[in-house]
Amino acid sequence: MRQSQVACVVFFMETHSVKGINSYHAHVYYGGSTRAAAARLRDQLGARFAVELGRWHEGPVGPHPLAMYQVSFTTDVFASLVPWLMLNRVGLTILVHPNTGDEVADHAANPLWLGEVLPLDIAYLRASTS
Ligand SMILES: [Zn+2]
Repeated sequence: MRQSQVACVVFFMETHSVKGINSYHAHVYYGGSTRAAAARLRDQLGARFAVELGRWHEGPVGPHPLAMYQVSFTTDVFASLVPWLMLNRVGLTILVHPNTGDEVADHAANPLWLGEVLPLDIAYLRASTS
């Protein structure tokens, strides 16, 4: 077997099915000067989409380095909600991650960032899920 064929086999063996994604979170980060924008975005999300809005965290919590709130949504909402966030995040940094049951991989290897990439405390997740 040629080297390129070996690489293809390995690639297919390591593919993960999206059926392993149970739901998604979007984490909307904010600071003192962006809290009002985050509040407006939160109202719009709640009005437009079938989402579960988590409470405000006014400082770092868990693996998250800044104040944020969490938006939970099902897989069928992703295709309408995430493009809407791309166009309407008004400069806010947003982390979108799958929920597969592997919190470390969901946050460290497989997240989608809108805006700035923030350093998450992955060690916290490793400790809390081990
Ligand atoms: Zn989350």
